[in-house]
Amino acid sequence: MVVITTKKPTEEVIEALENYKIKKLAIVSCGTCAALCQTGGTEGAKEWNDLLIEKGYEITAVIVSEDVCDNRVMKKDLRKIDDEIQESDAILTASCGLGAQSIVKVLENKYPEKPVLVSNNTKFIGMTERIGRFYMRCRACGDCYLNYTGGICPIATCAKGLMNGPCGGMVDGKCEVGNYEKDCGWVLIFNRLKAIDRLDLFSRLRDARDWSESGHQQEVVFR
Ligand code: SF4
Ligand code: SF4
Repeated sequence: MVVITTKKPTEEVIEALENYKIKKLAIVSCGTCAALCQTGGTEGAKEWNDLLIEKGYEITAVIVSEDVCDNRVMKKDLRKIDDEIQESDAILTASCGLGAQSIVKVLENKYPEKPVLVSNNTKFIGMTERIGRFYMRCRACGDCYLNYTGGICPIATCAKGLMNGPCGGMVDGKCEVGNYEKDCGWVLIFNRLKAIDRLDLFSRLRDARDWSESGHQQEVVFR
């Protein structure tokens, strides 16, 4: 599993830095998911470091952390560059949005005034086919339907997230969204259910979804 990120346009990141009147900053790069997506890791950190220095910014520290999204790891890693954070106007994170928020959380008491900015857009939880090729296959909806859809997710593979597809936009197994380039998710589900001899599940009407399980402010606590 990889949290898929893409790079924000450079101008957008610079605009954010200007907007916050940042002159000095520390860069925290993710060595796991973002490294795989080529939006972080050692190379991503170096890229931002070089580019920002060229544009006249002062970089106080550059670190690559294996678990930017893990508060415990971030606490340890940020402690090592505490002096540099203190003299920075902000932190730039080359990670997913989760990583950035992990840093906000770690710094909230000691440095509540430091902005944490992001250099990436977070796209989806992705399945890796090969390095550099990732597919959205789950949107963490909180109430998994895979047992009824042959192990293929309707929310991630149907462009409209339909629960009782396919819709009228399917032509020759392809989806109208995106100009018929991608397979219709519901055709994939049909084919899969047929292969496992469970087409009875295909024709079963699924109830309207209860989206409360995929709402906001969720947490899971294991005791
Ligand atoms: S139904 Fe789809 S989005 Fe929801 S948990 Fe299952 S795979 Fe993920
Ligand atoms: S054509 Fe298929 S994948 Fe596209 S929106 Fe309709 S049901 Fe979903």
